[in-house]
Order: sequence, then structure tokens, then C-alpha cells
Amino acid sequence: MFRIGAHVSISDGFEAAVDHEVELGGTCGQIFVGSPRGWAVSEIDETEAEAFRNAADEQDVGPWIVHGTYLINLATPKDDLASKSLDCIQDELDSAATLGIPYYVFHPGAHTGAGEETGIENVGERLSEVDVPSDVTLLLENTAGKGTTVGKRLDDLDDMVEISAYEYGDLGICLDTCHLFAAGYDFTDEAAVDDLVEKIDSTVGIENVQYLHLNDSKHPLGSEKDEHEHIGEGEIGEAGFRQFVNHDALREKPMVLETPEDEKGYEWNIEKVTKLRTDA
Ligand SMILES: [Zn+2]
Ligand SMILES: [Zn+2]
Repeated sequence: MFRIGAHVSISDGFEAAVDHEVELGGTCGQIFVGSPRGWAVSEIDETEAEAFRNAADEQDVGPWIVHGTYLINLATPKDDLASKSLDCIQDELDSAATLGIPYYVFHPGAHTGAGEETGIENVGERLSEVDVPSDVTLLLENTAGKGTTVGKRLDDLDDMVEISAYEYGDLGICLDTCHLFAAGYDFTDEAAVDDLVEKIDSTVGIENVQYLHLNDSKHPLGSEKDEHEHIGEGEIGEAGFRQFVNHDALREKPMVLETPEDEKGYEWNIEKVTKLRTDA
């Protein structure tokens, strides 16, 4: 079933986040469970969590996904930053479990000069130290490849999973369309999206891609720049998204938007993607 939503705020509480999603026309959604640019993770009591679970159930909004704070860096050569990151990932994963949210995604981080291979090894090894709750899947997000960030190539994400003591099932992949495009993966025509799906399947495996971030890109193919644009209005364009969101291998995966929050807003983008779907 087609599920599309947007990143929504928890500033009015978790239960209200479900209402915000419904107001936008979303049928699934993403939240932070703390400050996106800080280390603090919100304490969630059982009453709040239950209210969120009930609201999501009653309004049929889901699956939800928690996005980790942007400060997390498991690729870093610095032990103190790695240990802070691990504590934060654990708290955020536990919050997801409390809220009954089945997915948690974070950006692997940057090697900041230690070398790409070392960065990838760091991520894999440190993932083994996380205690992934049984009802949550920890997803690695592909990156645009800016600076020394790791996780630009699908093979790199697969290596991180392989190096870790975990296997797919406890771990999975979240693909961001803007990051894919910025990293040099084209999907703007039928042959290109077929190639991409084949590439996904031969690396991480299509069944391990559990969630999609839908964002157009302000910058061209392979630019390594991570700047999101409204769906159809960036370099990926309408035709690219039409191919991507309708592809048999991808169309059933839940999709959330992280498009710019300007006058167009999420509602416009949800409508846009819905119109591009052949089942709309
Ligand atoms: Zn992300
Ligand atoms: Zn991005």
C-alpha cells in the first residue's frame, strides 16, 4: 500500500505529531525524539507513548520512523565523540521502542581525515556495541558524500553491515533520493532506475531497503552537495520521481519528505508525489 508522509515536529507532543501528519495529508511520518542539533533525547513517559501509539493506530498513520540527531558520528577517529554518539543512538533507539516506532535512521558520519576505509570500519565495529531493541530496525542512511562523510556508495553501507556483529533484519537501509543523486546514482529515466534497482539489489539487497526519503536535489548528478528541493523542481525533476516512486521494487516502501519548509510546504509535496503515482 502506498504510504507517503513528511518529517513533523514533536514540539506540541508526540500525540499532536500524528495530527500534524494528518493535516498535511500524510499516511506515514518521521520525527526526531530530541533536538536535531543537540545530544539531549526527550524523556518519554508511558502515558505519552500510549497516546501516540493509539493516535497513530486510530488515524492509520504509519509506519513511523525516528531520525537520529545530526551530531552522531560513528565514523570519527575521536573516541569521545564516538562514545557520545553511541549513547545517543541507544537512547533514541529505546525511545523508538517506547513509542512503538519500528524504524530508526541515522547518518553514519565523517572520517575527518582518518581515511574512508577506517571510517567505514569504525561505523561497522561501533554498530556492534549498540543494543538494537527487538522491535526496532536500525537503518543506515546513504549520504551525498560531501567532505569526509562516509556512506556515499551502496557498497559502503553494505560493508558497514558486514563488519558489524549484526545482520540485516536488525539492521537495514534508508535511501534518500537527493543523496543518491548527489552521490552520482542516476534514476531519471526507465533504464537508469532499472540499473539503480539492480545495483541496490546486488549490494544491500532491495528487501533490506526499509524506508525512503524523497527529496529533489538543488544540485546536479554527482555534485556531492546535500541540498533538498521540492519534488519535481530540482535536478532530479518530475520525470525522475515518476520513475522512482512507481518502480515495482520501490513503490511499496514507505516514503517521507524532507523538502524545504517554505511557503510550498509538505502538503504541496505530498500532493505532488501522489499525483506522480500511477495508482493515484
Ligand atoms: Zn537523514
Ligand atoms: Zn539531505
